[in-house]
Amino acid sequence: MLFILSVLILVSVFSCQTGSQQKRVLTLGIRHESNTFSTLPVAMSDFTVWRGADALKGQKWAEVLREAGMEVIPTLHAYAWPGGVVEQSAFETFMNEILDSIKNAGRLDGIYMDMHGALHAEGYDDAQVTLIRKIRELKGNDVLISGSFDLHGNLSPGFVEEIDLLTAYRTAPHRDAEETRVRAVELLIDALSSGWDPHIEFVEIPILVPGEKSITEVEPLNSIYSQIPVIAGREGLLDASIFAGYCWADLPRSAMRVFVVARDKKFSEAAKNEAAVLASQIWDSREKMVMDVPSGPADEMIDMAGAYAGKTVFISDSGDNTTAGAPGDNTQVLEALLRKGANNALVAGIVDPDALQECLNAGYGNIVKLSLGGKKDNVFCKPVDIEAKVFFLSPDSLMESARGAAVVETGGVKTVIISSRRSFTTLRDFEEVGLDPLDFGIVVVKLGYLFPELRDIAPVHLMALTSGFCNLDMRSLPFRNVRRPIYPLDPDMVWKPE
Ligand SMILES: [Zn+2]
Repeated sequence: MLFILSVLILVSVFSCQTGSQQKRVLTLGIRHESNTFSTLPVAMSDFTVWRGADALKGQKWAEVLREAGMEVIPTLHAYAWPGGVVEQSAFETFMNEILDSIKNAGRLDGIYMDMHGALHAEGYDDAQVTLIRKIRELKGNDVLISGSFDLHGNLSPGFVEEIDLLTAYRTAPHRDAEETRVRAVELLIDALSSGWDPHIEFVEIPILVPGEKSITEVEPLNSIYSQIPVIAGREGLLDASIFAGYCWADLPRSAMRVFVVARDKKFSEAAKNEAAVLASQIWDSREKMVMDVPSGPADEMIDMAGAYAGKTVFISDSGDNTTAGAPGDNTQVLEALLRKGANNALVAGIVDPDALQECLNAGYGNIVKLSLGGKKDNVFCKPVDIEAKVFFLSPDSLMESARGAAVVETGGVKTVIISSRRSFTTLRDFEEVGLDPLDFGIVVVKLGYLFPELRDIAPVHLMALTSGFCNLDMRSLPFRNVRRPIYPLDPDMVWKPE
């Protein structure tokens, strides 16, 4: 009796100790949206990389992990502006650094992956799958992996097999990036502390849709996305995500998807049913997923802007959308504005480091002759020859960074010339070059849909359907590798969730 009692005491002391052991969560991330139609690969130097404590600085998700008593072990977190396919050497350098850190991290209970979901690297069918499989090879199935994603990601079945928990943005334009990351770590914390064995069910919907036709603030998707929190709150279910997917990737995994995360396999049937219901609703709405603003050829949009005298009209140069991977030096709209003698128009901006240097050489207030843009995107446009006045130059401190810019003026058109590929998505971007977009009659941006800050202030928004690496007309793009049939490439196809 005494012996049994001592064994019981020993066992309970031991389990108390293991129970109170601090949980260890390693974090990593390679965030990229890779446009396979772009002719410009993305190099290591295009990435911003945070390591160690820097990766956690100011991150709400890191705070949430710590507040839950987790030990956080940050590794490499890399991010690059959307672009072409990532160079093999860049991806491998990042992956190997992450894997080395995992090897040296000792015991781990959880891993948090901060991803975009549309990463594609040269030399790999699916670099995201390679990364997560190699993590599993090192850590097996004992470690729980949770990930946060942009809803414009394309996650293949192979990736979903390896990840335990996932969640994605629920808004496009994106207003909930931080919230989504926090939700991903909260799912991880809950699963670790309750001992759940999460299980993900998904339905792939054969639809290729650009972000401009899958805005969550308008119908038909608004009603569909608004069901997500309800589903996530059902018994046995933890989360639900609708991925609109990334359409400018000619890959077998490009499609829309619905994911539902169940607490364990017992609820997999419920998860599957919920995913199928959402998928059916999306499929049935496919023809209603259209642009929420007027769209047409650039010339037509410029003419249409004339009808809104006294109001600022934002025109998206959608084929050259740098937030979806285009080069940002397409000159079609600039050429049209100049040809039409537009007045009080702004083009923000054209990427051309050489032209920027010439503006610097000429100096503020002087006339400069430029052969502007059309160098990176030499497929869909040509450089535009202009004689312009240098209206603005960034201060030296900015000029030395990737945010250096000049504004030149020719006739009634001002053009921002920038040194590297980026977009004007916030008011701060305009302030930095000394401009208020609302002072202009026309503001051309290298975007598709307007990002939240601009969407909220834009009196009028028109979508110019320019040709480029982000062409909004899916049927004009040279798709070869996507799984067929797929809508709208095969418009008459029949489909229902299995
Ligand atoms: Zn996105």
